[in-house]
Amino acid sequence: MTLQPIISAVHGLPPPAFAAAGAPTAAEDPRDLHAYVIEDTAGSGFSCTLCGRTGVSRRDMRNHVESVHFPNMFTYECALCAVKLSSRKALDNHKYRHHRSTSN
Ligand SMILES: [Zn+2]
Ligand SMILES: [Zn+2]
Repeated sequence: MTLQPIISAVHGLPPPAFAAAGAPTAAEDPRDLHAYVIEDTAGSGFSCTLCGRTGVSRRDMRNHVESVHFPNMFTYECALCAVKLSSRKALDNHKYRHHRSTSN
């Protein structure tokens, strides 16, 4: 039994045309971003309710919602060096680059 090549299919999709409606409202708390991610009906991944884009993990789709639909809406502060980042993904990247040798 083999898994479907979901990842390559997702990356091969063109960018969705969602811009016509403008930026959606709501989302005052970063955790609210999860409200825009639903489990795919096929059970093989997760979908963005705003543009229909799909991904293999809820975390990836949450980052998608933030970076595509709510860019720069939230500020994340690194607990280790207090630098401020504009997205959860940027914070993760920052931690990886600057603090990966630490345990936290
Ligand atoms: Zn989307
Ligand atoms: Zn830091």
